[in-house]
Amino acid sequence: MPGHVAEIAGHHPETAGHVRPKYALRGVVTMNRLFAWAPATMFAFLVLLAYLRARKRQAAPDSAPGAVSPLHKEPTLRVVRTSGPVRRISSNTAGQIDEASSASRAKPTEWTISAIRQLEWKRFEMLCVWYYEARGFTVKGVPFGADGGIDATLYRDGQEAPIAVVQCKAWRTPVKVEPVRALGGVMHSKKVKHGVFWSLAGFIGQPVQDYASQADILLVDGAGIVERIRALEAGKQAKLLALAFEGDYQTPTCVACGVKMVQRQGKGGSFWGCRHYPKCKVTMARAAQVLDERRT
Ligand SMILES: [Zn+2]
Repeated sequence: MPGHVAEIAGHHPETAGHVRPKYALRGVVTMNRLFAWAPATMFAFLVLLAYLRARKRQAAPDSAPGAVSPLHKEPTLRVVRTSGPVRRISSNTAGQIDEASSASRAKPTEWTISAIRQLEWKRFEMLCVWYYEARGFTVKGVPFGADGGIDATLYRDGQEAPIAVVQCKAWRTPVKVEPVRALGGVMHSKKVKHGVFWSLAGFIGQPVQDYASQADILLVDGAGIVERIRALEAGKQAKLLALAFEGDYQTPTCVACGVKMVQRQGKGGSFWGCRHYPKCKVTMARAAQVLDERRT
């Protein structure tokens, strides 16, 4: 393995104790005390709560695997006509947020795969950039692209020639060979020998492995990302954690405008829409499961 790749790879796994998020049960306890004199009232309340939850779940179902179009249209907004083109966005780049994870999970206190999965796609890409900056590289990147993937170029010590090109995908489904080939194309046009591909959901198929080794592209899956971050010294890990989970790290960013999207309701359930609608028509599935091969 050439020196540069080993340098970029950075394997030094460290162990750390698992810290489970603490759930605030204090409110429930207080309520219990309040209703202790009337258990029947409490029971009725819980039944009602369960019923409302079930209804909410029915109202906003996740998009089913294999669904054809990730583009949701809100009927009331359809009458508005604009000259701007409608942009179809890969549902794979959609928000990382599941119904279960969005509101209930506490801010992570250490680097784990479930912590990284809470990050919206843009913040995930920034994590990729910040990681390589923490490793001492100068990173030049495209801030956001239409495919929801960044092409970050790594430089060392003010050298003019780049060391590697990095591609980051926060897709919910494993990456096949095509996007990795595309990175190979970028490497070729930029005359960069090494490539790194971060895929949170990993990779699938033998062709992707074959192509990667032939083209000198390092494939890093979710576990590999955690391993690399945890190999950083504690101070750098903490700094990265503070950066990545600062402010709103869950609401997805519009790929066209770079602003946080807003939740809207459509026929097929809730989805993310650009806050610049109708000027910008970018939408994203709320919890995308769809494999997207057309855009890559
Ligand atoms: Zn937009």
